[in-house]
Amino acid sequence: MKVNEIFTSIDGEGIRQGFLCSFVRLYGCNLHCSYCDTRYACENNSYTDLSIGQILDRLNGFNVYNVTITGGEPLLAEGIKELVQTLADNGYFVNIETNGSVDYSRIWTREERKSLSDRLFLTVDYKLPDSGMEKMMAPGNFRELQSGDVLKFVVQSRKDLLAMRDFLNSNQHISASIYVSPVFGRIAPREIVEFMQEFNLTGVRVQLQIHKFIWAPDTKGV
Ligand code: SF4
Repeated sequence: MKVNEIFTSIDGEGIRQGFLCSFVRLYGCNLHCSYCDTRYACENNSYTDLSIGQILDRLNGFNVYNVTITGGEPLLAEGIKELVQTLADNGYFVNIETNGSVDYSRIWTREERKSLSDRLFLTVDYKLPDSGMEKMMAPGNFRELQSGDVLKFVVQSRKDLLAMRDFLNSNQHISASIYVSPVFGRIAPREIVEFMQEFNLTGVRVQLQIHKFIWAPDTKGV
């Protein structure tokens, strides 16, 4: 598999925020979000080819059993299903961060996801207008979210916040945890909270990417 980096840090966001976590960053992405902070994992062949066994060996060396597979866009990687199964079989709790454009029902059936639900959850982005990528979203992804999954909105303007509200109003069945976070430096977190108050968004949690406060915002491998 094409691996950009493997490291441990704290999970900077989502339901495991603040816990130690191992990360496998896979190479390549099909989107070009306006706010992307990981282009280094998407271009210039910046990867090492590792087998699933080699990835497992690297992770076993850390002895940290929460693992996040990220990118780039990890669901594009050949072998992603086998990697997840191997990690689950070896006691890992896997989070996959995916950009919302890749139909994950082509990788796992609903039943397969259910059978993995104590070992795997998905953190699925819904890309908002100012990302430039909203048209790339695969609608089925949001219908298939399970209760252990995370739906994540990254916002940089009031326009994005309004689009998030409209999306949630039209998708009230979603049982995943819902998070909204600011593009670092582009919108004041307070503006998000005030928007939540204005529209009484009680089902949404605001979060800050804490690794960008602990380290310099552009630090890699943290
Ligand atoms: S999906 Fe993620 S990695 Fe790909 S361009 Fe957007 S922010 Fe960057």
